[in-house]
Amino acid sequence: MSKTMAINAGSSSLKFQIIEMPEETVISKGLVERIGLAEGNLEIKYTDAEGQSQKFTLTEEIADHSRAVELLLSNLLELGIIQDFEEIKGVGHRVVAGGEIYKESTLVNEELIKNVEDLAEFAPLHNPAEAVVMRVFQEKLPHATMAAVFDTSFHTTMPAENYLYSLPYEFYENYSVRKYGAHGTSHQFVAHRAAEIVGKPIEDLRIITCHLGNGASITAVKNGESIDTSMGFTPLAGVTMGTRTGDIDASVIPFIMEKEGISDINEVINIFNKKSGLLGLSGVSSDMRDVEEAAEAGNERAQTALDIFYNRVIKYVGQYVAIMNGVDVVVFTAGIGENSKETREIVMKNFEYMGVKIDSERNNTRDEAIISTDDSTVTVINIPTNEEIAIARDVERLKAN
Ligand code: AMP
Repeated sequence: MSKTMAINAGSSSLKFQIIEMPEETVISKGLVERIGLAEGNLEIKYTDAEGQSQKFTLTEEIADHSRAVELLLSNLLELGIIQDFEEIKGVGHRVVAGGEIYKESTLVNEELIKNVEDLAEFAPLHNPAEAVVMRVFQEKLPHATMAAVFDTSFHTTMPAENYLYSLPYEFYENYSVRKYGAHGTSHQFVAHRAAEIVGKPIEDLRIITCHLGNGASITAVKNGESIDTSMGFTPLAGVTMGTRTGDIDASVIPFIMEKEGISDINEVINIFNKKSGLLGLSGVSSDMRDVEEAAEAGNERAQTALDIFYNRVIKYVGQYVAIMNGVDVVVFTAGIGENSKETREIVMKNFEYMGVKIDSERNNTRDEAIISTDDSTVTVINIPTNEEIAIARDVERLKAN
């Protein structure tokens, strides 16, 4: 029995889980938010000695990531969740951008941290914070096995025809401009789970994984490898998301700048990242539940936002059926994928021509379940994703090597 921490650090937040391995039991989880602001928050959920679920919260200024880790670790001790830092044998850090360097999860050392810093231009909000957090953990838990688990690793198997943009080739050669994708840990986790569920080697399957959350991406997994994915150079591309545009004609950028009197191009990118998608279209919310509710109450813009979201998912699934010359399994996962039976049904309805049949009773679920009929030509599965467990497993694997 040993404890592994899965860490997901962002520019002003740090989410964590403590997982008992190899049992994969989550014994505590929580987050530090608003790092660097006047009022930071720490929240830790855990089960106490009497077996009662507890939630500890604390609000105070948390100046930086170093303080955030310090505060988290000292409170884990104080709450009795751990008795000693030595108990934490492994730490897995989610890293957003691994570029073309990291094709798999890798043990953390100084060179890796430097590379993560250098890759910051591909993930300016995430990589610098992740590098800082890795350094702090190295200092506080020097005995622990530490691994970096990259969002992009799973997609490094994409062939050039899918990762290259139709730009002058020098942009790729000189600046590494290409598709990197994201959500790799989730796509890999659910694809492997799907193969287990259908009882076939992943090497023999064509799988389309639909990670539909606030951020959303779709991946074509052939013979166990990602061969294409909807996100691009950054997580802005692909399907319509909570607040992100997904794919868009780049000519819109100068046009909008001129019309809106915007001089800083970053402002437009900010609009594309934060004010678009379901939020921008509906004018109601970035949250699927709110948009569904508004649409049901007769809000036409909300309905249009939903229709566009479904439409983009359908188109990507269709593309991936085409490039794999068919599909054996389609997986739905993440907040919308796991919870919205309407989304799953509406999307898969467009593949009835291939003999896909959704069983509406089976589809009435939020849990892991096959939701297609027994005679459906494609197996459609709902699989809750679990990136933290995937991270902890990678740490265990690297620890054993
Ligand atoms: P995630 O980023 O994976 O946490 O997913 C967040 C998204 O899942 C939000 O758009 C939520 O509205 C959506 N979501 C969560 N529960 C439901 C639900 N019951 N029905 C529809 N969407 C949901």
